[in-house]
Amino acid sequence: MSDAPVLLVTGASRGIGAAVSRLAAKQGWRVAVNFASNRAAADAVIAAITAHGGEAIAVKGDVGNATDISLMFETVDRHFGRLDGLVNNAGIVDIAQRIDEMSVERIERMMRVNVTGSILCAAQAVRRMSSRHGGKGGAIVNISSMAAIIGSPSQYVDYAASKAAIDTFTIGLAREVAADGIRVNAIRPGIIDTDIHASGGLPDRARDMAPSIPMQRPGTAEEVADAVVYLLSSAASYVTGAILNVSGGR
Ligand code: NAP
Repeated sequence: MSDAPVLLVTGASRGIGAAVSRLAAKQGWRVAVNFASNRAAADAVIAAITAHGGEAIAVKGDVGNATDISLMFETVDRHFGRLDGLVNNAGIVDIAQRIDEMSVERIERMMRVNVTGSILCAAQAVRRMSSRHGGKGGAIVNISSMAAIIGSPSQYVDYAASKAAIDTFTIGLAREVAADGIRVNAIRPGIIDTDIHASGGLPDRARDMAPSIPMQRPGTAEEVADAVVYLLSSAASYVTGAILNVSGGR
């Protein structure tokens, strides 16, 4: 039986989560690839990992649902019997709106998926990884956004606020569990070329924004994955509570 470390990546069927899963598997992690509804996309990530000799499973679950989160971690327990890393990557935007147009349902869903979901997943991971609970330690990487700094006016201030919550959560949790052997860090991606922009009704956003980015281009999911996998790795063994901008200077 393999004793390779086990990583759970939420929202891993597409975009940044998929790139993190593929790269982590290449670096020796066994990966649980969470997805919300697109099983075909998750299966493609699993196929890419196994084609390179890696090990991965697909786990369906909505991080906006506490029961789904519990079941997802129980699936990881059953299949791998250990957990060494968590990437809180699942996140959503919504269509560009001013605050005076936003519905209660939109704002509550944004917070439930982006904030509550990440906090509940971290809680499940800490219960398994903390030395207080007999665990061997581990690493958590939260995916924030440069929106936390910029505020995303007239687009999605609710999304920006949810990501600012992730920044503060990262700082507090890092200090809370540092003595338990768990490191907690975050990445703030800038404009990254993934499907998320289409889900916000702006499929060309990454390309259209290029002139406003100091490096004059959007980033790739793989460029974000490089930073995430570094923070998960022993190369970052003294790094905790850090928030790294991966934004081409934006
Ligand atoms: P994406 O291309 O839209 O992919 C989203 C992924 O999350 C998919 O795998 C999707 O699963 C999954 N997902 C969506 N809602 C979920 C839920 N409720 N529960 C579980 N999984 C869910 O997104 P992305 O651009 O890679 O973004 C990943 C993270 O980076 C997000 O937190 C986002 O806020 C952050 N970020 C992105 C950018 C950017 O420019 N792309 C910039 C800053 C920060 P299905 O395939 O099943 O739908």
